[in-house]
Formats: sequence, structure tokens, C-alpha cells
Amino acid sequence: MNASSRHADIVIIGTGAGGGTLAHALRDSGARVLILERGDFLPQEPENWSPEAVFLRNRYKTAERWHDAAGGTFAPGVHYFVGGNTKVYGAALPRLRREDFGELAHEGGVSPAWPVTYDDLEPYYARAEAVYLVHGAPGDPTDPPRSGPYPFPPMPQDPYMAELTERLRDQGLHPAALPIGVDRRPGGRCIRCKTCDAFVCRVLAKGDADVCGVRPALERPNVELVTRAFARRLRTEPGGRRVVAVEVERDDERFDVHADTVVVACGAVNSAALLLRSAGGAHPHGLANSSGLVGRHYMVHNNSVLVAVHPTRRNDTVFQKTITVNDFYFGEIGFPYPMGNLQPIGKLQAAMLAADQPRVPEPVLRAVADRSVDWWVMSEDLPDPENRVTLAPDGGIRVHWTPNNLIAHERLMRAAKRMLRRADYPVLLSRRMGIATNSHQCGTLRFGHDPATSVLDPFCRAHDLANLYVVDGSFFPSSSAVNPALTIAAQALRVADHLRGPSAAPAPAAVTTVVPA
Ligand SMILES: Cc1cc2nc3c(=O)[nH]c(=O)nc-3n(C[C@H](O)[C@H](O)[C@H](O)COP(=O)(O)OP(=O)(O)OC[C@H]3O[C@@H](n4cnc5c(N)ncnc54)[C@H](O)[C@@H]3O)c2cc1C
Ligand code: SF4
Repeated sequence: MNASSRHADIVIIGTGAGGGTLAHALRDSGARVLILERGDFLPQEPENWSPEAVFLRNRYKTAERWHDAAGGTFAPGVHYFVGGNTKVYGAALPRLRREDFGELAHEGGVSPAWPVTYDDLEPYYARAEAVYLVHGAPGDPTDPPRSGPYPFPPMPQDPYMAELTERLRDQGLHPAALPIGVDRRPGGRCIRCKTCDAFVCRVLAKGDADVCGVRPALERPNVELVTRAFARRLRTEPGGRRVVAVEVERDDERFDVHADTVVVACGAVNSAALLLRSAGGAHPHGLANSSGLVGRHYMVHNNSVLVAVHPTRRNDTVFQKTITVNDFYFGEIGFPYPMGNLQPIGKLQAAMLAADQPRVPEPVLRAVADRSVDWWVMSEDLPDPENRVTLAPDGGIRVHWTPNNLIAHERLMRAAKRMLRRADYPVLLSRRMGIATNSHQCGTLRFGHDPATSVLDPFCRAHDLANLYVVDGSFFPSSSAVNPALTIAAQALRVADHLRGPSAAPAPAAVTTVVPA
């Protein structure tokens, strides 16, 4: 193979929930698949589970700084490794609610309909749950209908969380098992530790896109991965209807990749940036951008952390992320608009709090962490064309972000505090997340039927180009108010079937997680 040029049938750029899942689904397609990933494999090392290394020294976050609209910069919460952000994700893998696929009136505006229905995606959700080892159980009244049971039973509850669940039920609420992707199959490696959400799994037991997607794909001779391979630009033929090359930078090397089909899966911000960087003769405003919508409608959820403390009751929970409360998802009495989802985060530890509160003495932080139960309060933000990704003059990324639909979020926070006060937590500390908390980024290349109002078609192919697809969080027309990764993975599986063609059997759902000894 020529060092300055590589060839494949399908090139996939990025290995997160979208790209990693697609690679997995195409492994038996017979196609020569070349995967490009700007990061490397994340090493298994003691720091994986060190709160100091992860939260105080930001060991796994990119050192990049992105620009905001006001001329400042910030450290984005993104991770460039094989597996992308799923290496550090909390592995909470719920499906969107059925209603999220339709148009929904919110207090702050309208959440638009998707070009596919829940029923279109349901078989792919089921397959994605199998690939990512989802443990769950029915019981959430807002859950959409399922074609089959969860692949695995729910995560066991620590006694403290089981008791809290009962306190919530006593209020008439409906806490249910939070679907979680970890390997607790018989003989599975998950030891149920305290350092899962926002950490890297040192024993490779988390259902992430590296372990469940890329590594099993690489077992096949037709799939190749090039790490440390940064896709700088996509080049088209002069007419601009096909991508003919991916321009890649790898250490000091530069080379082109040629493929019949090019799939971008760099995450919602980086995928939009790549298309904008690829502006050229036929596409002066960026690739696939005849609508002018590339980079627009950036969403990231309205997120807050809520720490509920009981001064004398210790919380010795190991795995806190076991329940979800959706009683307020579609509103409450007196507020007939969607409010969002409540779910615990991984158990906070003193060093994690110290990253946010460096001036508070460690013993105080420890006292709080030992007695708190910690929640993620998550509401839908609405697609605003002015919330967008652009390129800064230095070539870097600029994120223009003004949060919206905040009354619903405030309402949800009030409901969450009321719920926890009634559950006997007198001290409630909350903080809304800022621009750097972009873990749920989506929407920058929305899919739809109309090329004038969307960038991608319903199979995530660019309206403007015959051989360009995007499979990552970019395609979301609305953000819903649940965690996005399972939906990204499900759509990647749907796109894989589309790429394999109508005569091909769908890719098997069977789990073939490959974990080195
Ligand atoms: C701390 C944290 C906790 C989270 N918890 C949850 C959770 O519990 N549940 C949930 O559903 N979601 C969670 N998320 C979000 C979830 O991880 C993302 O939604 C998901 O990973 C997005 O998938 P993606 O394919 O869009 O992008 P990513 O996973 O970000 O993958 C993009 C990939 O592209 C690569 N890349 C980028 N640019 C280039 C380029 N130019 N050239 C080559 N490669 C490139 C990146 O290195 C990366 O591997 C969490 C995220 C974080 C950070
Ligand atoms: S061992 Fe289990 S709980 Fe701990 S990080 Fe890995 S998957 Fe998460």
C-alpha cells in the first residue's frame, strides 16, 4: 500500500458511539472497512480509576481549547481515544420516549419531529442494547413499547439506593431501573465499582464503543484501524457530488484515503467542523452545506447537578446510577410542558468535588460526599439556528451557545428538590452546567426529508453528496431529555443495514465482545 494513499470500500472517521457501532455492524459485510481515529487506544492503568487523575488533572480530556461566542476559550469535555466519549461515559443507555420522535410543544418553543418514528428505530434499539450489554427492566411508565425483554437483568441496587427508591415510591413516584451497559453477564468482568461514570473502566467491562464495537470489528481481516489519524479535510470531485479523498494527518505523515463511501463520525461538534474545514470550489461554505445549516442547531441538554445531603445518614453506595425518575418528563400539574429526566450520577467523591470547589477544605468535601446522594437533572434544550459551531480565525472550533427552554429546567429542578426534601434530605446543593459540559452534544447536522431544512437524509446521507454519511450525535433534530448514546448506536446500525443493501441479511445482534486477557 502506498504510504501517501490508502484505499477502502468504506472509510469511517471516528470510533465513538456512532463510528464504533457502525464498524461493528459492517464487520461481516464483506466490505473493506478502514477506520480512522485521531486518538489512540486508552491504556489500562491505575489512573483509570483515580478521581485525582481524572477530575483534578484531567488526564483523559483533550488539552484543546475551544472558543466561545464572546471571544473567550474553554476546555471542552471531550475525549479523543478509540471509543470516543463512550470510554468515560456513564453507560446509561435509555431509549428515547416514543413522543420524542414527534413534534412536542415546550414552554420555550417547539421540539421538532424526527423523520423516522420510534417504530422505525425499535429493532435497532433492541440490537444496540445487545451490542452494548444493556442491563435493565421494565417499570418506567414513560418507556416506549419493546419488542423483547432487556438483554440482561437490571444492575443490583445498593441498600441505600434501594431504600431511597422506596421513599420515592411512597411519594407516588415511579422510579425505575436505569438501563446500564456493563458486562455483568455470567463470568463478566464488571466488579461494580465506584468509578464508572466519567471514569475509564480499567478492566474493560464497560459497554463502550471500543470494547463492544471496534475491538470485535478488528477481529475480521476486512476491517483495519489507523489510530492517531486526524481527518483534516474531505475533498470532492470537481462537480462536488462525491467525496474522493479524506486528507489525513498522522504524526508527521500526510496521506489521502480513498473510499467509495465516506462516513463521518467525529462527534457533533467535530463532524460539523470537519465539513466546514472542507469548504472548496463546489462547496464554498462547507461540505454538504447548501442549506446553510452545517453546524447549526447545536444542542447539549440543560444539565444540572443536584447534591442532596442528610447530615447524619452515610451513603456507602458503590454503584449509584441504578434508578431513573421520569414522572416529570412530560410535565406536572400546573405545567403542561415537558420538564425532563432525573437520574443519579456516579457516586461523588471528595476529589471530584474539589475539582469544582478548590477553596473548600478537603474534610468538608469528604463530609459532604460521604453523606450525599448525587443527581443529574436533565432537560431538553431546543434547536436554535444561532446555537452553532463555526471555525475560529485560528482554524479552531467556536461554539455559539445561549441556553434556552430554561423555565422547564428550573421547574424540573424545583420538582427534584421537592422530591428529595420529602425523602428527608434537608440540604440541597445545585449547580447548572456551563458551556464546557458538552457531553450530550448533538444536532449540528440534522437529518430530515427536505434538503432545504436539513443536512442529512433519513439514512444520514448528506443531501448534497452521493457518498457521504454522518453517523454520530449530529443527526438529532431534537435532543429529547434522555442520554443520547443508545440512539446514536441504534441509528448507526440502521445506517449499516442501509449500506449493506436490501438483499443483505441484517448484521447479527449477537454480542462478540473481545477483551484481551
Ligand atoms: C463524562 C461523560 C459521561 C457520559 N455519560 C453518558 C451516559 O451515561 N449515557 C449516554 O448515553 N451518553 C453519555 N455521554 C455521552 C456519550 O458519550 C456521547 O453521546 C457519545 O459518545 C457520542 O457519540 P458520537 O459517536 O457522537 O461521538 P464520540 O463518542 O465523541 O466519538 C467521536 C470520535 O471521533 C474522533 N474524532 C473526532 N474528530 C476527528 C477527526 N477529525 N479525525 C479523526 N477522528 C476524529 C474522536 O476521537 C472520537 O473517537 C457521556 C459523555 C461524557 C463525556
Ligand atoms: S468494573 Fe463495572 S462498574 Fe467499574 S468501571 Fe468497569 S463497568 Fe463500570
